[in-house]
Amino acid sequence: MPERKQLVAGNWKMNGLRADGVALARGVAERARGGHRCELLVCPPFTLLAEVGAALAGSFVALGGQDCHAAPKGAFTGCISTEMLKDAGCGHVIVGHSERRQTCAESDADVRAKTQAAWRAGLVAIVCVGETRSEREAGRAIEIVAAQLAGSLPEGAAAETLIVAYEPVWAIGTGLTPTTADITDMHAAIRSRIPTGTRILYGGSVNPKNAAEILALPEVDGALVGGASLNADDFWAIARACG
Ligand code: PEP
Repeated sequence: MPERKQLVAGNWKMNGLRADGVALARGVAERARGGHRCELLVCPPFTLLAEVGAALAGSFVALGGQDCHAAPKGAFTGCISTEMLKDAGCGHVIVGHSERRQTCAESDADVRAKTQAAWRAGLVAIVCVGETRSEREAGRAIEIVAAQLAGSLPEGAAAETLIVAYEPVWAIGTGLTPTTADITDMHAAIRSRIPTGTRILYGGSVNPKNAAEILALPEVDGALVGGASLNADDFWAIARACG
């Protein structure tokens, strides 16, 4: 069974021009230079992949994409294939983030196709799942996430090429987080539905203050961090809370 080494991944979303993106990447790389207990990953906008990749070179901080198209190439204006991400130096790609499920109407079938595309190109797919507030309040959180997993994970999932990120939609960017008991219950429910050894990240308003409590939960194999990943000190403080 593969070791479930914790991973702290930063999703920069649509933030960063060249100067500040490179400065942020250098800041993370500089802090991580002395070694760290977890794996580190940053996922900048597509426009910054090359320069952030160069800034991270030799640092043990990995580079990832925030999304991809399922096709390897073709007439898909504005889209990026997993082969292009690989070529740009990425080892991971986030798929099925709730912001894409909601604002781009991505379905589980879309996420499944993108996950297959990630594997085709040799990338690790970080597949995001999570319930809305009304779904949680209706007592349907686990049912919803189970359905997302069933629809989004292709045949052939393996711990080496799949990471699941549990991100309650209502916790993203709101400062709200589930109770540690709710995170543990959900991660256990996810774990029973994915290959043994697959890592499960928690995402949703993780910050330097709450990271230690969340990352100490035995079912939590790391964090997917949005807002706090835009500040090198905050991102590093979260990384230091690992393990
Ligand atoms: C995210 O969007 O993946 C996320 C976790 O955002 P935040 O940390 O800002 O809640």
